[in-house]
Amino acid sequence: MNITTKQWALSTVAERWKRQYPQSHQDIFQKLSALSAVADEDEITKIIGNSSWTRLQCDECGRDVDAYVTIGQEQDYDSSTARICRDCIAKALALFDAEALRLAGQEDGADAEQ
Ligand SMILES: [Zn+2]
Repeated sequence: MNITTKQWALSTVAERWKRQYPQSHQDIFQKLSALSAVADEDEITKIIGNSSWTRLQCDECGRDVDAYVTIGQEQDYDSSTARICRDCIAKALALFDAEALRLAGQEDGADAEQ
């Protein structure tokens, strides 16, 4: 389990690009390298031609979020891995809390009948 942030995605795009394309697409690497440390997402999208290198899409709500946690199996081809944003984690916790309350209510009801 780990967290990935938009800030990380923006600030590491040049080095990640170089790792992915060590021998090709040098023009794009040069442009990404020339960006300031706090690169603008729109600038990066314009240079690369799409937003796949900076978009952090939550697997639950589908939104492009500022951060998500990666949970489940270690990321691999065909792994059961999910990237979930804070709002969706909060909704999941609320489900646990609601179920705990429901079960507690059942116990209270059972006590009252005795
Ligand atoms: Zn979400």
